[in-house]
Amino acid sequence: MHRLTDAKRLVVKIGSALLVEDEGGWIRHDWLATLADDVAEFRAGGREVLIVSSGGIAVGRRLLGIADSALRLEEKQAAAATGQIRLAHAFQEALLPHDITVAQILLTLDDTERRRRHLNARATLRQLLDLGAVPVINENDTVATEEIRFGDNDRLAARVAAMVGADALVLLSDIDGLYDADPRVHPNATHIAEVSAVTPAVEAMAGTAARGYASGGMVTKLQAAKIALAGGCHMVIADGRDAHPLRALLAGARCTWFVASAAPHSARKRWIAGSLKPKGALRVDDGARRALRDGRSLLPVGVANVTGRFERGDLVTIRASDGCELGRGLCAYSSDDAVLIAGHKTSEIENILGYRGRDEIIHRDDLVLD
Ligand code: GLU
Repeated sequence: MHRLTDAKRLVVKIGSALLVEDEGGWIRHDWLATLADDVAEFRAGGREVLIVSSGGIAVGRRLLGIADSALRLEEKQAAAATGQIRLAHAFQEALLPHDITVAQILLTLDDTERRRRHLNARATLRQLLDLGAVPVINENDTVATEEIRFGDNDRLAARVAAMVGADALVLLSDIDGLYDADPRVHPNATHIAEVSAVTPAVEAMAGTAARGYASGGMVTKLQAAKIALAGGCHMVIADGRDAHPLRALLAGARCTWFVASAAPHSARKRWIAGSLKPKGALRVDDGARRALRDGRSLLPVGVANVTGRFERGDLVTIRASDGCELGRGLCAYSSDDAVLIAGHKTSEIENILGYRGRDEIIHRDDLVLD
């Protein structure tokens, strides 16, 4: 359980089956109140929680009186447009007694896949966490079409967890973890307590069934595990149907842990260091070089020269004044804008560019020194 108690930043994903009554599509407010208690307890001591919640479509279809079990895309979009308001409101109401402010974030696949939008979404999430809010996240089902949909919130939650560098991702489901065969079909299936890599053998254990309103099932949970582990984030699948699901997990309820081998930071930084081709370079002065060595961010004032053509969020090389490579990082400005603000104080950025961008040209979370 230390993976949970040690987590400073936690993402909790709630499946539709937990939050919304199967019959009728009503929100289970009593259950949600117990989850809110757990979230408040977990946050005590300065820990951060983000919630990824499904249920928009399930609630909305009731409100719109859509009875068919298989919804067409337009019906899903319409259902999400109505259901999401109710869902967000339910979270607001549930966390209000704990004095916790809720913020709604609706993402599409592109918001996590495209580097620029990824950075935007991440900056907003970080800001909300800094301000003490609990982000409640769902897919923006109203505008997402089939080609650009996640379709399931398991992978969305894993992307969010990797995006914000969470230490742990909890998938609250209607099953207490992974079995070596589908336990609904094979009652003698064996429960797996811990998985350290999602190998083909592990994947073979997952059934294909997607039940009720949830689009997930074990297949998408394993895909989520791959994403989380690659981002250095532990993941756990737990049965969340009863009251106080997080408390139960902390008390040792049966579950399956997917254990990441590296801390989130180093895994993400490994990705920066190794997996992308730099599109340009920033040459920095000696003061900035020292600041970087001290673990600080790179500010525009320390940049002497910009080469290459890149967009905001692209990977660039950081060079010392003698040209030797100091490291790499994701630049918060395009090359056009970087040229304009290089050598200038952060307070001048808005005047020069006409908008107030990031204070740092490369945030320390986004850079790796050689
Ligand atoms: N985004 C969908 C909704 O809110 C749920 C997707 C899922 O169940 O994984 O209804």
